Amino acid sequence: MLNLVIFGPPGAGKGTQSDKLIAKYNLHHISTGDLFRKHIKEQTDLGKKVKEYTDNGILVPDEITIAMLKGVLDENKGVTGFIFDGFPRTVTQAEMLDKFMKEQGTAIHAVVALDVSEDEVRTRLAKRKEIENRSDDEEEKINKRIFEYYNKTMHVLPYYHGQGKLHKINGIGDVEAIFGNICSAIDSVK
Ligand code: AMP
Repeated sequence: MLNLVIFGPPGAGKGTQSDKLIAKYNLHHISTGDLFRKHIKEQTDLGKKVKEYTDNGILVPDEITIAMLKGVLDENKGVTGFIFDGFPRTVTQAEMLDKFMKEQGTAIHAVVALDVSEDEVRTRLAKRKEIENRSDDEEEKINKRIFEYYNKTMHVLPYYHGQGKLHKINGIGDVEAIFGNICSAIDSVK
């Protein structure tokens, strides 16, 4: 199995690079943001619970997020690998992910952190707003999401650094070149 985490601020290019990694390494994509948006669209109980948070760019509480993730892992036993996109976003989530992987007799093998400056992220998110029309891409909400990233999510990086799994990749430039650098990092641990 090959289990990856793709990490970075909102707008870093996690979705774009995930799509390419899925195709190359035959991975099952788990994006907690996509899962929440699906629940909200389908107006499930979970969707009703999390809408307030996601609409405002605030992290959904760990217990809700972790329970949802565990459910998805249980539904996908037997896949050749996972790519986690937008998860973990807190150290508690990272610890629980390690626990779940261990229970399945596997582990997180590499964490790819896309390095993109705050200015670049703001420019990209403003552009994405015009294209995707996501309800959390308004300026005030973008500010909240960026705040959440630098205040809570960044702390996950030292956690993985301590495990020797962190691969920082420059996320600015040509998509294919960035992908090549990511693949080199992954292939070095495979
Ligand atoms: P994303 O598409 O990954 O930017 O996620 C959109 C929104 O979903 C975030 O702003 C959070 O409100 C929520 N969300 C997604 N993943 C997580 C997570 N791992 N922990 C907490 N909240 C999350």
